[in-house]
Amino acid sequence: MKLFSDRHRPVHLGPYRTERLRRGRDLPDLSALPPMRALDVGAAPAPSVIAAMRDYQAMLDTIRDGPVNKVRAECPEDEDERARHLKAFGHFCDAAGVGICRLPDAARLTQPIRNPGIDRLAADLSTRQTKTLASGIDVVMAELREAVASPPGALPGHPFALVLLYENPREPGPDEPGCDWIRGAAAHRGALRASETATVLADYLRVLGFEARAHSAFASDVDLPRLAVAAGLCVIEDGRAVHPALGQHFGLAAVTTTFAMTPDQPLRPMAEQPPSLGLRPRDPFRRRAFRDGPHPFETLKRVDQPTTFIDEPRVPRVPKRTDMFARALFGDLGPGVQEKAKGGAYVRKSAPSFAQRRSLAAMVLLQDGPVADTRADLDPSDAADLVKATSYWLGIDAVGISRCPDWAWYSHDARGDPIDPPHAHAISMIVDQGYETMEGASGDDWISVAQSMRAYLRFSILGGVIAAQIRALGYSAKAHTVMDGEVLQPPLLLLSGLGEVSRIGEVILNPFLGPRLKSGVVTTDLPMAHDRPVDFGLQRFCEGCNKCARECPSGAITAGPKTMFNGYEIWKSDSQKCATYRITTEGGAMCGRCMKTCPWNLEGIFAERPVRALAMAAPATAPVLQRLDDALG
Ligand code: SF4
Ligand code: SF4
Repeated sequence: MKLFSDRHRPVHLGPYRTERLRRGRDLPDLSALPPMRALDVGAAPAPSVIAAMRDYQAMLDTIRDGPVNKVRAECPEDEDERARHLKAFGHFCDAAGVGICRLPDAARLTQPIRNPGIDRLAADLSTRQTKTLASGIDVVMAELREAVASPPGALPGHPFALVLLYENPREPGPDEPGCDWIRGAAAHRGALRASETATVLADYLRVLGFEARAHSAFASDVDLPRLAVAAGLCVIEDGRAVHPALGQHFGLAAVTTTFAMTPDQPLRPMAEQPPSLGLRPRDPFRRRAFRDGPHPFETLKRVDQPTTFIDEPRVPRVPKRTDMFARALFGDLGPGVQEKAKGGAYVRKSAPSFAQRRSLAAMVLLQDGPVADTRADLDPSDAADLVKATSYWLGIDAVGISRCPDWAWYSHDARGDPIDPPHAHAISMIVDQGYETMEGASGDDWISVAQSMRAYLRFSILGGVIAAQIRALGYSAKAHTVMDGEVLQPPLLLLSGLGEVSRIGEVILNPFLGPRLKSGVVTTDLPMAHDRPVDFGLQRFCEGCNKCARECPSGAITAGPKTMFNGYEIWKSDSQKCATYRITTEGGAMCGRCMKTCPWNLEGIFAERPVRALAMAAPATAPVLQRLDDALG
């Protein structure tokens, strides 16, 4: 949990105050760094999670380049503004540092690095079927075949490089519970996290009509540590690239491009920097165990039954086709909505989310797969610790484990085939949509869709890695993503203690993130210890607060009492109105105004702790807190 929110800090500067560091015009001698070598995937001993990350890294490396939009977008000519914009995008995607440089000759690899996993992935996927209604999967398969048949050629004349630096958390303690999968895997984790954003940013620039290619620790035409020095992110110490706050606890990726931006100046050596800069890692696990996560979930009151009544025998199983976005595609909401739903047009009309969606489509191919022949012998409590510690270490914000009852499964998949629930356990995960970004948005402007897609992509990759890891241990597991899922996620989040049902309707509100979250679920037959539901007083709070109902631009949220619907006692929102607004709004793309305006959307310990404590202890104060929240903006 942060002491202070970064809401008043310009986003492009990033979380570390490196603008206080001394810089110089002269580029250090980059040959003081040894030439970059590719990370080795093959040497990972079981049960390391490194092997489970392999296909996701290979997929990102497959789509690191692609066609450039023939129509160039209107962009600012001011190269400072361009640099600020792309840096802000990188930090929005949780980069710890983003730097820009002209591409020096000393950072071009004489022998480009190619990820051998791409060939294996293409062979593995050639027969894989998906059941998604989403478009774009065929395009990804064609790109995979193309990447194997003719890998990207020599790097064209890209004069600029944008370098992304991702912080790795601390090393696990020697006997720390739940850490057997993650030991020795930090370099691969940092590479994967950085690659995700580099791939999206390269795609974004190509959507805007500029050449751009992403480079990772596994597939690159450029020397990433040398570029990090040239872009003013690192200094050279003892023949290694070192970040002033993070030392060597980071992963790198880069985007080379023709998009001109103002370069950063290289850092002066650390010996020449002012003393007591106060640059320390912001690692949330410095004083917390990985299995416990970044937020104090252990402080919450646990209960045997969810605070929302679920009449389990009477919850009907419904086909996937009843999902509002599927119904929009099928024309149930009228031809106007259908037209705007085709091919995910409501996502593609915003350039950042257009780029994020391409990566999302690629990950659909990996969310399920073959199971290893040999089963690892795992105690359910240890299995839960391993799953949670690995998920948190990868970058998931909250994880809960529960049963996965039959009624939580759709009755029929997207193709209309019946679903026989294959898994009894669910690992629910949530990803924060980002407080600072939400603060800079109205909730229903052009940012909301990119916030959603960022969180969905994060789960698709990291939740997918967890599912792959479980399959490698001999148990069946599938990641249910926004593009292809066969379970209803809100009840699973509820059962696993990740939040309570809010007035917003089907949105689960987490006490530490508010409703500012996106979820994903991994279902599996791996036995794990289950979490219990939580009770932090939200039902009484929402009874006294109806701010989301007041603020919803489509009038979808009820200001009235709860009703029984399909076996759940909930504040029933009009999901048709919500979906129609999100698909057709002209003044933005998608919507999250209910999340933005909810009084639980807080950050910074001094802002959130007293308010949350009061809200939990005395939920009847909701009308007062709602007015206070209004008054404080
Ligand atoms: Fe927007 Fe739907 Fe929330 Fe209303 S319920 S504020 S339309 S996302
Ligand atoms: Fe509940 Fe108020 Fe948040 Fe709506 S705005 S979800 S009523 S706390």
